[in-house]
Amino acid sequence: MVRAVRGSLFFFLNDPGTDTDPAGSYQYYDDGILVLSDDGYIADVGSTTDMRSRYTLTADETIDYSGRLIIPGLIDTHSHYPQSEIIATYGHQLIQWLEKHAFPAEAQFTDKNYASSISRFFLNELLRNGTTTALIFGSVHKISVEALFEEAEKLNMRIIGGKVMMDRNAPQYLLDTPETAYSDSKALIDTWHNKRGRIRYAITPRFAITSSGEQLKAAQRLYHVYDDVYLQTHVSENQDEIAWVKQLFPSSKSYLNVYHDFGLLGPRSVFAHGIHLTDDEFKLLADRNAAIAFCPTSNLFLGSGLFSVDHACLANIRLALGTDIGAGTSFSMLKTMAEAYKVVQLKKASYTAKPEKHTTLTPFKAFYMATLGAARALYLEESIGTLQPGKEGDFIVLNPDATPLLRFRMQKSSSVADRLFAFMMLADDRAIEAVYLMGQRWQNNGA
Ligand SMILES: [Zn+2]
Repeated sequence: MVRAVRGSLFFFLNDPGTDTDPAGSYQYYDDGILVLSDDGYIADVGSTTDMRSRYTLTADETIDYSGRLIIPGLIDTHSHYPQSEIIATYGHQLIQWLEKHAFPAEAQFTDKNYASSISRFFLNELLRNGTTTALIFGSVHKISVEALFEEAEKLNMRIIGGKVMMDRNAPQYLLDTPETAYSDSKALIDTWHNKRGRIRYAITPRFAITSSGEQLKAAQRLYHVYDDVYLQTHVSENQDEIAWVKQLFPSSKSYLNVYHDFGLLGPRSVFAHGIHLTDDEFKLLADRNAAIAFCPTSNLFLGSGLFSVDHACLANIRLALGTDIGAGTSFSMLKTMAEAYKVVQLKKASYTAKPEKHTTLTPFKAFYMATLGAARALYLEESIGTLQPGKEGDFIVLNPDATPLLRFRMQKSSSVADRLFAFMMLADDRAIEAVYLMGQRWQNNGA
């Protein structure tokens, strides 16, 4: 039985900000040991010398990952599992892409067996890529979320998901009503939220275009009645989308204000994209303790625009990263970090008036946004996101020798910052050597 793992250990204690050397915000043990409790929580962590002086650990109780980097499981704060099969569909921007690809794909989720098989594929891909927690959209169908939760429960994954609410501006076959959206979501919350496995529920109006005011009111009732449920939706992704929202809700001050007017901004609300938000909207998000999921591979793929990490950081937004499968082009949070870095570079080059503080996405900030920063965005920092004692034993093992290029590049690497940067720019699923969920090693059965 595994009681401990040994290797290089890295995790955050706090937000590293934009410092290139944010000492004090992270903990690094070049040769460390992580001790696990019998029920899968992290019991202790420290240098191998210290841990050996405090614990008697036999060889078969310790898995030795020396030369590897052990970090908290990665967290994806925005994705659509019913869109798994339409990843990399050619040639459109947001609205046309939804009509042409996303809606027809989501129509198939009336079939529970189909939903279960796509759920297995999706969760397997997350884990293969080192993602142990995700915030996930289902389709409009209640059974799509039942299927997802059942599969996540079998894996004991910490998953948050919800049934899409959409009652207009989409094909008839995908529409619900304010009443059914309310009753289906409520039934899912009552069955699953904090009740089974490590599952939580997110109320999920797709976006302001596909929900009537009546439906947004229904979403508001659920969000305010239930303790610690989440709310996930999209905001300010694309200029055509923003113009359409203005037509639909002429009395709201801005796109984000539509959600605010319906009481949907608050703790545990997560807004995907936010590319074209104004300073006032960033401030409103920060004031309401809401979070943004920055989804760079999707934003580049759909040509939606360059998100401003600068403005989000200046406004002190809870900021995390998302893959946005299937408009996003990779399940890998490492690849997502690499694209985030490039978006920040392009954004920096595009400024005519420079923001007071300039951001280059440091490797520390990127890994923070995919671990502790995401846990904070999701109000889950008591459970996941670091390797501190008392947290759930969700962690991954990164192999710096996974590919010839990675091995070659790592030989030149002497600092932890440089190693992290090489991982985020060059590594992918091949570098994920092992994944642990509640202290148990996940076995890939090839779903
Ligand atoms: Zn999305």
